[in-house]
Amino acid sequence: MSFVSIDTIVNLCKRRGIVFPSSEIYGGLRSAWDWGPLGIELKRNVKNEWWKALVHSRDDIVGLESSILMSPKVWEASGHVATFTDPLVECTNCHKRFRADHVDLAKACPNCGQGPTWTDPRQFNLMFKTHMGPVEDSAHIVYLRPETAQGMFVDFMTVQQTSRKKIPFGIAQQGKSFRNEITPGNFVFRTREFEQMEMEFFVKPGTDEQWHKYWLDERMNWYLDLGINKEHLRLRQHDADELSHYAKDTYDIEYEFPSMGWSELEGIANRTDFDLKAHAAHSGEDLSYYDSETDERYVPYVIEPAVGVERPTFAFLIDSYREEEAPTASGKVEKRTVLKIDKRLAPYKVAVLPLSKNADLAPASEKLAAEVRRHFVCDFDVTGSIGKRYRRQDEVGTPFCVTFDFDSLEDNQVTVRDRDSMEQERIPIEGLVEFLGKRL
Ligand code: ATP
Repeated sequence: MSFVSIDTIVNLCKRRGIVFPSSEIYGGLRSAWDWGPLGIELKRNVKNEWWKALVHSRDDIVGLESSILMSPKVWEASGHVATFTDPLVECTNCHKRFRADHVDLAKACPNCGQGPTWTDPRQFNLMFKTHMGPVEDSAHIVYLRPETAQGMFVDFMTVQQTSRKKIPFGIAQQGKSFRNEITPGNFVFRTREFEQMEMEFFVKPGTDEQWHKYWLDERMNWYLDLGINKEHLRLRQHDADELSHYAKDTYDIEYEFPSMGWSELEGIANRTDFDLKAHAAHSGEDLSYYDSETDERYVPYVIEPAVGVERPTFAFLIDSYREEEAPTASGKVEKRTVLKIDKRLAPYKVAVLPLSKNADLAPASEKLAAEVRRHFVCDFDVTGSIGKRYRRQDEVGTPFCVTFDFDSLEDNQVTVRDRDSMEQERIPIEGLVEFLGKRL
């Protein structure tokens, strides 16, 4: 496992404005986090890579953005009102509450060390409830969605008919979901508001197991391709008693987090025809599919890869974090922190750094940054020594630093420094964008 601690990553995130506690001036709100200027770029890149892999690069998956607030009937039909629960226990000594499946009930309370004196587990529904309109009675209850998936199921017919996709095909969606988790924590790993990336892949019954295998491979490869160390990833099949109410078979892609150990990044479930059948029964609409090739009508089965944006983003930060010895210009050796994150995920792709604050360098270096910015997300930094500025870019994973010096004014060349090798190359300004484009 990589040596970095979660605290180190939390500190880096806070110090560099990647992620920090929400509402901090009021003491924060437990488990709610804000993504700062660099964090939002990073998170957006993760979402874009997912969207590219699942939607833009394929002919058999289309996108959707369904509403967060849906008819409460959706959640009755889907089984969430009745069964989207976690077992809650309370320590009768300190009154702290835990998910019964997250503590060893035979042992003392992890909070106060007393006991074990647990209450009997009771089922706690994780859906946030609110009221639609000004009347706060039970007839006006709506839920904040706990998953984006139901939007894909209730819109299945409309999307299939308007996109004219034939089975097998998928519908993909990214968006916020909400769960009133009993014990949120571990930084952004478990929060009450998070962003999901889910894809429902509709297949002919009988081909579901084969497609399930296919999506396990595809999703595993997505993480590997984006640079996660193979040793830190594994697939784990759910035991029968872990399966959600809708699932026939589920695998989790797990990452070995420091101190937390193996934990779920993504779930890949065979949801069978459970959801479409439930919505057909509750709504009275026919949600079956007519297969013109085989002249059959059936309710499709569904394979669902479902992941939150935050967990893989956290894993990408941990997995790419390095502390290294690096020689400085004066020949001394210093420690440098560097995020060796995949270039596609790096918040900034390039930083343009004038060698000094000298006014002679300003107009030309600013002009250069403006030109680079037309092609790549680019930072411009003039404060501190050049060495310090390289370190600042290294620790947020900027793949290339472009230094504009006094010679640049004469020879129209700049020095490009590579984040990982720290090698420097002198490049004509004219060819800079092409040079960077080839490497990014
Ligand atoms: P867990 O067992 O950790 O509670 P889950 O199995 O209930 O997770 P799913 O219902 O499979 O989670 O949700 C799909 C994905 O959504 C998860 O793999 C995870 O990436 C993300 N996710 C779920 N709950 C949270 C949460 N509270 N905070 C952040 N991400 C979450």
